[in-house]
Amino acid sequence: MTKNDFLALNESQTRQFANPRNAAAGSLRQLDPAITAQRKLSLFAYAQGDVSAPVAASHWEYLQTLQSWGFTVNPLSKRISENEAEAFQTHIGQARATLPYDIDGVVYKIDDIALQNRLGFVGRAPRWAIAWKFPAERATTTLEDIEIQVGRTGALTPRARLTPVNVGGVLVQYATLHNEDEIARKDFRIGDVVELQRAGDVIPQLIRVVKRSEASTPYHFPTHCPVCGSLAVRDSDEAVRRCTGGLTCQAQITERLIHFCSRGAFDIEGMGDKTVQEFYAAGLLKSAPDIFKLPDHEAEIATREGWGKLSAANLTAAIEARRTIALPRFIFALGIRRIGENNAKLLARHYGNYANWRASMQAATEIGSDARLELGSITGVGPTIATDLAAFFAEPHNLATLDELASLLTITDAPTAATSTSPLAGKTIVFTGTLTMARPEAKARAEALGAKVTESVSKKTDYVVVGEDAGSKAKKAAELGVTILTETQFREMADLV
Ligand SMILES: [Zn+2]
Repeated sequence: MTKNDFLALNESQTRQFANPRNAAAGSLRQLDPAITAQRKLSLFAYAQGDVSAPVAASHWEYLQTLQSWGFTVNPLSKRISENEAEAFQTHIGQARATLPYDIDGVVYKIDDIALQNRLGFVGRAPRWAIAWKFPAERATTTLEDIEIQVGRTGALTPRARLTPVNVGGVLVQYATLHNEDEIARKDFRIGDVVELQRAGDVIPQLIRVVKRSEASTPYHFPTHCPVCGSLAVRDSDEAVRRCTGGLTCQAQITERLIHFCSRGAFDIEGMGDKTVQEFYAAGLLKSAPDIFKLPDHEAEIATREGWGKLSAANLTAAIEARRTIALPRFIFALGIRRIGENNAKLLARHYGNYANWRASMQAATEIGSDARLELGSITGVGPTIATDLAAFFAEPHNLATLDELASLLTITDAPTAATSTSPLAGKTIVFTGTLTMARPEAKARAEALGAKVTESVSKKTDYVVVGEDAGSKAKKAAELGVTILTETQFREMADLV
């Protein structure tokens, strides 16, 4: 993979490869060959596997044959005598920086294939070839600043801005700092003289502090997004801090808008990534609510290059067709971290309608509140997801965007099974203690009949089903005056007798 193709690939996706070699290897390891096909992989052919008849008497002739067959072979390959080797690697070392792809050294091979066959292999290593690797290039310079970049998923990534320095023929001004912990561990401070290394990778890395700046103070990683000012949070199990202003943050907006229009979300025909990017660049789209204002610009869109009256009218029709949306799709469309289609459905079914969901989520931003406990106890949601939702709702920009969307849309209630005739329909149930039936089965049955199953007992709980050795939940139910059911009573109500 060339350096340019590598940079373009990293630009176009959330997963960042460390270097072109990893990117190429990762592309080949894809389970879906369609993804591999999209990756810009290049190949210099240089080796032969099993052949039915000898192709050439020497490696050099073999390369010429490959070329005549239409394969690309490395134009830097050269047939040399043994006393030319040192001059050759010096020459390649000088050319290295100007190559469009990374190399880490030179391979010398015995040209005569008959000799190669005689020499054979030790394990997988041929006795007729040897690699010479460039030493990792290092340099020292001054760390001028630590800049924070915000990726398309909201990840805050630090990079070092350096006093430009020549490292192995390349002028380096930026180096990676990996993450917040790396900066703290190595205690990099602005103004320090630092050592950096460039080892075949496109992005150089800082290794250590060489000389501490006298005026320096420890670096504090920002707690807010430098692009939109929203709070940036970090999960305890993650190295990355993320901006919570997803729907408004300019660094994330196109990615979010593409998701918003995608199939599982609003499913707006004609609003694929290209169109979203085009309208964003043209200033027609700045936020999700703008999508529903696009019909107002139909005449203007029709005059755009590649558009016309018909395609603009089709787009308007496609947008209008989605002005009414089911709550689960709406929640999924928001692109809140960890809220995929499945969790969006769970939330929608639990809260029933948009107004209730919004109010409950806002109340749940308060840690320890009943609303937060309720959210965290929804089967399949749990405390981590509750934290992500709370972070989203704690951000005023996000609430403003939600309210604007709600004013432009009709959000239909989630299909709760309240219409079910079961006595459990619409009830909130907690199971506690050991049941004779498996707990997941009991939950699934209750949910199928339209009940909500939660993990903790609150004033909103209708029934607590008590099995053997029930502990504090049964006690709390009694204190709150919540109806307690035996497993037998539950089975009767659930038609499981
Ligand atoms: Zn942001």
